[in-house]
Amino acid sequence: MSLLIKNGRIITAVDDYEADIFVEREIVSVIGRDLQTTADRVVDAKGRYVFPGGIDPHTHLDMPFGGTVSADDFETGTRAAAHGGTTTIIDFAIQTRGHSTLEALDTWHKKAEGKTAIDYGFHMIVTDVAGGRLGEMRTLAGEGVTSYKLFTAYPGVLYVDDGALFRVMRKAGEDGALICMHAENGIVIDELIKRALDAGKTEPKWHALTRPTRMEAEAVHRVIAIAEQAQAPVYIVHLSSSDALEQVTRARDRGVRAFAETCPQYLFLDHSYYEQEGFEGAKYVMSPPLREKWNQEALWRGLRSGALQAISTDHCPFRFKDQKTLGIDDFTKIPNGCPGLENRMSLVYHGGVGQGRISLNKFVDLTSTAAAKMFGLFPSKGTIAVGSDADLVIFNPNRRETISINNPFTHHMNVDYNAYEGFEVEGISETVVSRGKIVIRDCEYVGSKGDGQFLKRGLFPGL
Ligand SMILES: [Zn+2]
Repeated sequence: MSLLIKNGRIITAVDDYEADIFVEREIVSVIGRDLQTTADRVVDAKGRYVFPGGIDPHTHLDMPFGGTVSADDFETGTRAAAHGGTTTIIDFAIQTRGHSTLEALDTWHKKAEGKTAIDYGFHMIVTDVAGGRLGEMRTLAGEGVTSYKLFTAYPGVLYVDDGALFRVMRKAGEDGALICMHAENGIVIDELIKRALDAGKTEPKWHALTRPTRMEAEAVHRVIAIAEQAQAPVYIVHLSSSDALEQVTRARDRGVRAFAETCPQYLFLDHSYYEQEGFEGAKYVMSPPLREKWNQEALWRGLRSGALQAISTDHCPFRFKDQKTLGIDDFTKIPNGCPGLENRMSLVYHGGVGQGRISLNKFVDLTSTAAAKMFGLFPSKGTIAVGSDADLVIFNPNRRETISINNPFTHHMNVDYNAYEGFEVEGISETVVSRGKIVIRDCEYVGSKGDGQFLKRGLFPGL
């Protein structure tokens, strides 16, 4: 099947020009003005931008957490992603204590294989590095899993101590892999939680009040220092606050290879969502929590300056009706996470480009190119060039939609609420091409289950 996309305005992280794109066998094969080639399919992209497919490097599909499982699996989650203009996700496989990371990879392959609408890769969450397990990391890298996530949060569950952290970082540094960090001081946070519960504070807002920004900043500072000592690059996931950003900025100014992402929820939502009536705040229980609103402009500045490199979603949906309610009497039992995979591109375009905070090129960098480079997918992914995978988004910058669970153009995630309910966005992904196949045509899903492929990612390129 060949495909010709005519008259679009092609935007990459560095380019901006009008041209036609000819796609053959899943790959961009020719880019030029007024191409006369015939193709099996022709799409007119007049008045539209053509972006490289979005890359969301942080999702949790079909993930067990706190006695339940995230509500989107690899089928529903990746279909929703495609609707929103994302053509690649990197999800997290989780090693369970006492078991091999290779076993975990197997489990996650089984969850995803044959189910996805778009391409996918895996990071590995490492929880146990006892005995000879460190040696497995090279095998994992050979399997295309070249980044590992560790936690300084959730003691007794995912938490690793500083010694284990150092050992894994050293090994990753030697192997050319990248360490991703969930950086919050879980030990102190657990003390704050105990005090709150002892005082009878059980409502959702106490989830946020027991996870202050200083405890994020402290952990960011510490993990960067340990990474520096281990001579390994480090990538802070879901950075949420100005306090934490300051630590990344300082490290980068010193020349340390410290990187970070933030997420739409920290750019568009704030602490006031926890102050709503009744149990509503549970919809926004995630870690780190939403912050005071003034942090948002600091994060946008970080994105502009390059201190923050990418915008992921940390998509981890739990239904309000019967999953979030597990914590109706105790905020610590509310499953942590919030949906967002589908709405990322429109939100960032609207709030970023639309409101004059970032350029079009920067938009592409933050939603696609930077993640492709960081996680060993560039230049097959993350750009539009001859030879790159034909992952393309035809984006209408003038079309307005109100994000809602009831709007068939903005919500296909398998969860009973949308965190951005009522947000009006200008800029919508209309047609989405994944590996040369149209999977979304005029906002309608026309792909099939299993279109997506597992991506063996390369090593950290050093940047
Ligand atoms: Zn996460």
